[in-house]
Amino acid sequence: MEVEVLFQEHKYKLGKRVDRGFAYLMVLQWVLAILLAVFVSPLTWSGDSSSIHMHVWMAIFLGGIFTSLPVYYAIFNPGQKIGRYVIAIAQMGFSTLFIHLMGGRIEAHFHIFGSLAFLSAYREWRLLILPSLLAIADHLIRGIYFPLSVYGVMSGVEWRWLEHAGWILFEDLFLGYMCVQATREMRQIAVTKSDLIKARINAEKLNAGRSHFFSVVSHEIRTPLNGIIGFTDFLQESPIPAEQRDYVNIIKQCSDTLLKVVNDLLDFHKLDSGRLELDPHAFKISDVQQYLENVFSLECQKKNLTFSMRVASEVPVELYGDSHRIRQVLTNIIGNAVKFTDEGSIQVSVSHYKGNLYRWDIADTGIGIKKDNLQKIFSPYTQEFSSTARKYGGSGLGLSISKTLVELMGGQLHVESTYGKGSVFFFTLPLK
Ligand code: ADP
Repeated sequence: MEVEVLFQEHKYKLGKRVDRGFAYLMVLQWVLAILLAVFVSPLTWSGDSSSIHMHVWMAIFLGGIFTSLPVYYAIFNPGQKIGRYVIAIAQMGFSTLFIHLMGGRIEAHFHIFGSLAFLSAYREWRLLILPSLLAIADHLIRGIYFPLSVYGVMSGVEWRWLEHAGWILFEDLFLGYMCVQATREMRQIAVTKSDLIKARINAEKLNAGRSHFFSVVSHEIRTPLNGIIGFTDFLQESPIPAEQRDYVNIIKQCSDTLLKVVNDLLDFHKLDSGRLELDPHAFKISDVQQYLENVFSLECQKKNLTFSMRVASEVPVELYGDSHRIRQVLTNIIGNAVKFTDEGSIQVSVSHYKGNLYRWDIADTGIGIKKDNLQKIFSPYTQEFSSTARKYGGSGLGLSISKTLVELMGGQLHVESTYGKGSVFFFTLPLK
C-alpha cells in the first residue's frame, strides 16, 4: 500500500479519536462554565428586585454554541479538517469565556495554555495558528474596551497583551516543534507499515507458488511411487527365490519410507501455511484399534515386540473427531515407538481425562530420550542426535506434524522419557 495513503489513514484515525475527546471535553467545560457562573454570581441585585446574572446566561448560551458545533462534527463528520478548525476556535472561545467568568484572574489564563496543548494532540502545527491569533486578538481588544474582563484591573494594561502574546508564541514554538516531530514519526510508521505489507504480499505470493510446487511435485512423486509399491506387493506374493525376496523386501521398505517422507512434507507444508482443514465426524474407537493392530502387530512381531492397545471402560464406543488425523498422529508416534524399541513392548491406552477430553498414551521400552532433548524433538526437521537419521532414518517432521495436529484438534501432546529405558508420549483430545 502507498505510504501516503497509510499516513493519511493514520492521521484520519487519530483525528477521529481526538475529535471524540474534544466532544467530551466541550461538554465538561460547558457544565463547568455554568457551575462557575451559578456559584460565583447567580443573582444580581438592584434595590429589592433580583435577576439572574448575565454571566449565567453567557455561560449557558456561549458555552452551548462553543459545545454544539464540535460535538456535531465529532458525531456526524469526525476526522475532517473543517471540524478540527471549528474545534480549535471553540476551544479558544471557552478559554476566553473562562477568563471572563473568573473576572480576568491570572490563573484563568492557564486555560489558554491547556487548550493549545490539547489541540496539539492533532499533531498539526498549522492548527495552532488560528486559536493563538484569536487569543492574542482577544487580549488586545478586550484589553482596550473591557480590561476588567481579561486582566481583572481597569488601568495600566495597554501593553499587557504583548506579554501574553509572547507567552502564547513561546508555547506554540514548542508545541509546533513537537507536532512536526510527531508527524515525521507518523510518516516513518507509514513507511515501515508499507514495507511490512509489501513483504507480506510477497510472502503470500511465494507461499502460493510453493504450495503449487509442493502439490505438483508430490503428485508427480506419489503416482510412480504407488506404482512401485503396488508391484512390489505383487512380487512379494509371487514365488521368487529367497535372495530376490530379500531385495524386494528392501525395495518395499525404502519405497514405504519415501512415501512417508513425501506425505510428511506435504502435511507439514499444509499445516505451516494454515491450509489443513479438519473433518470431524462420529467414529468407533474399535475401528481405530483394529486399524492400529493391523498396521503394527506384524511389524512388532518381526522385531519380537509385544503390541497391545487397551481402551478403558469409561470411553464411549462412539466418539466425535477427525479420526483420519487421529490415526495419523497415532501412526506417527507408534511408528517411532516401534522404530526406537529393540526389545520389550509398545502399549497404547485410551482413557477419559476430564470433561470432554480423552487421553491417549503410547508407552515403549525403547532407547528413551535425554531430558535436555525432550522439547527439541518437536521442532521440524529435528532429531535427537545427528546420528539418528543415519541409524534409524526419518526426516524429523513426524512429531512436529503430530503436535500441530493435536493442537489444531484442541489438545496437547507431551512426552516423558527415561534415557535408556523408554518413553511415554501422551496427548489429550476433546472427542465428544
Ligand atoms: P523422525 O522419526 O522422522 O526422525 P520425528 O519428528 O517423528 O522424526 O521424531 C523426532 C526425533 O525424536 C526422532 O528422530 C528421535 O530422535 C526422537 N524420538 C521420537 N520418538 C521416539 C521414541 N519413541 N523413542 C526415542 N526417541 C524418539
